[in-house]
Amino acid sequence: MLHAFTADYVFPVSSPPIKNGVVVVDDKGEILGVLEPGKYKPGDFSESPRLETFSGIICPGFINAHCHLELSHMKGKVQTGKTLPGFIGDVVKNREAGKNVIDAAIAKAEDNMIANGIVGVGDICNTDETVNQKKKGRLRYHNFIEVFDIIPEKADTEFEKGIALLEKFKATGSSSSIVPHAPYTVSAKLLKRIYEHAYTHDSILTIHNQETESENEMFRNKSGALFEKLFSFGELYKNWKPTGYSSLSSTLSHFPRCNKALLVHNTFSTLEDINWAHLYSSVVYWCFCPNANLYIENKLPDFQTFIDSGCKILIGTDSYASNHSLSVLEELKTISFHAPKIPLESLLCWATFNGADFFGWKKELGTLEKGKRPGINLVTDINLETFSLTKTSEVRALGPHI
Ligand SMILES: [Zn+2]
Repeated sequence: MLHAFTADYVFPVSSPPIKNGVVVVDDKGEILGVLEPGKYKPGDFSESPRLETFSGIICPGFINAHCHLELSHMKGKVQTGKTLPGFIGDVVKNREAGKNVIDAAIAKAEDNMIANGIVGVGDICNTDETVNQKKKGRLRYHNFIEVFDIIPEKADTEFEKGIALLEKFKATGSSSSIVPHAPYTVSAKLLKRIYEHAYTHDSILTIHNQETESENEMFRNKSGALFEKLFSFGELYKNWKPTGYSSLSSTLSHFPRCNKALLVHNTFSTLEDINWAHLYSSVVYWCFCPNANLYIENKLPDFQTFIDSGCKILIGTDSYASNHSLSVLEELKTISFHAPKIPLESLLCWATFNGADFFGWKKELGTLEKGKRPGINLVTDINLETFSLTKTSEVRALGPHI
């Protein structure tokens, strides 16, 4: 059966918005046409589609570029506003839970993402807890197998553990790569192993970046709240040496220049950092998780600086440990509320096309174009005079996508 959907505007993302545009899809979600209203002729298709009319806008399915599905059972367990050093302590303390609790929370979180119009996810994995859910193939995933250890002598062992975990994720049918957790939790030796693996396998990389101010302080001076928190965990950081530079330049210089790299959070990245990263590599992408930033640090990145610098921007929800929902639209609403001048078209591009581009999913996802199966999202309660999201904007998926 064929479906035709129309709304106040259709945003294909690959081309300008179409007033009262019509999107025709088959029962597998493949797009058969994206048309101006005058050009839509039901007789042009193998069977006449049933036309459904909505108020709001239609856009491609969203890509959640940064999530930790395995932390879904931590919803509401971490207090807000504790800053990153406090947050790390709480996650370490509260992460343990029974298998049934963890599995049920993972399944529910995936349901939430699907209901929120998400079709692809970049998911950080420290464990194999999400393997069974991902095998069901309800969402497209890239698994970032995250490794960390600050002691150089343990780099090989930790890296091999990462490889073993990566092997387990092969059963999910989704792509995976080995990545470092954050600048302050990996040794140069571990970064070297990650570099070699990424270079050999042409894989994509990601890292949590400049989520708290004291991350830079730690790398510049071996001081600050983050260093003190890490130092309190034991003797691990006694011999750790600062580089004298920002955490970003200290770490990105250990990444291969030709592998795509997604820097996540960037709350305290400066124009100097952005310029440095772009000089180092032309395939650096920047992921914002604004609701997690507000949850943990109550601070947002300076979005306009990234826009003015031509950054390729993606959107992530982070996990239920640091967010009230796993909804890309809720992240866009927060950005729009704090930076109302950013056009809706740009926000939608960050949430769709840029993710598909980074993860290598452009053939299927990211834009409304004939032959793709990108998911069709309806976003309601849009201010059509200013073309902006409102506090009550909601999203739902129209038809199947996978
Ligand atoms: Zn994260």
